[in-house]
Amino acid sequence: MSKFYNITIQHRLEIFDKLIYPVLSYGSEIWGLQSNIKIERIHLNYCKLLLRVRRQTQNNFIYGELGRTSLSVRHSINVIRYWLKIVNTHDIKYVKLVYDSMFRELETYPNNRSWAYMVKSLLDNCGFNDVWLNQGVGDVEIFLKIFRVRVTDMFIQNWKTELSESTRAKTYILISDFKFKSYLSDVNIPKYRMALSRLRVSAHKLKVETGRWQKPIAIPYEERKCTLCNVLEDEYHFVMECTLYTDVRKAYLKPCYYVRPNMLKFIDLLTSQNSNIVKNLAMFIFKAWEIRNTYNTYYD
Ligand SMILES: [Zn+2]
Repeated sequence: MSKFYNITIQHRLEIFDKLIYPVLSYGSEIWGLQSNIKIERIHLNYCKLLLRVRRQTQNNFIYGELGRTSLSVRHSINVIRYWLKIVNTHDIKYVKLVYDSMFRELETYPNNRSWAYMVKSLLDNCGFNDVWLNQGVGDVEIFLKIFRVRVTDMFIQNWKTELSESTRAKTYILISDFKFKSYLSDVNIPKYRMALSRLRVSAHKLKVETGRWQKPIAIPYEERKCTLCNVLEDEYHFVMECTLYTDVRKAYLKPCYYVRPNMLKFIDLLTSQNSNIVKNLAMFIFKAWEIRNTYNTYYD
């Protein structure tokens, strides 16, 4: 797919969901509640390739940027759909007999981690204990919709909690909510879109990020300074303040952003839904990276 530049990000995701997801999820009704890190890694690597950011990029940034949950969310829905099919099936079917035997076993050995145990735990965790006790629901399709909303909400809640606890997400948490970002379709020139993505998800070489990689111990946060301005070189400094990019900033950004810059203006700019502002921002960032690379070749 990397040969076909014109395929939009949405289409690439659609191709994944229609051609790759079914293969990765074959039989997930059965194994869907087991840990499946290797399968999720394929999903995440695909998304990272799509955004053209490095593999080490924090996974939560990727979920947030594309507004996608992990595949395990979808797998858990597959499990519950299959479970409802079994409990509603005739008693003489083999699959029902096996399930009934697992169900009885669970009463004698409540901690035996069978498939039925996993289904029960999932329903309990999602607040549907009554559904387990009733061994079914009235309207399957309606329940599956409610269940889908619940597991998705839980995923997003967990995403928010992890971001708020991550020191790497200090900027990202300010500029992202959980949804497919409009710039991914608005900025249709790949190199500009990629420049913006890389800035947003910290897949860049600003000192705030490279300071973390320093061996044997990371450079303390406050000391990750811009070589030119001698202040913390983070995304805010790069976009709003750094004097190295003054000319190019004036060419692409509106004065209301760079005159008397502050954090609110930065957030406003990075979360703008105005396609022109966003396109110009992406171009500015691309040009600024070029300037920074040249500068560092001489002075670093
Ligand atoms: Zn600077």
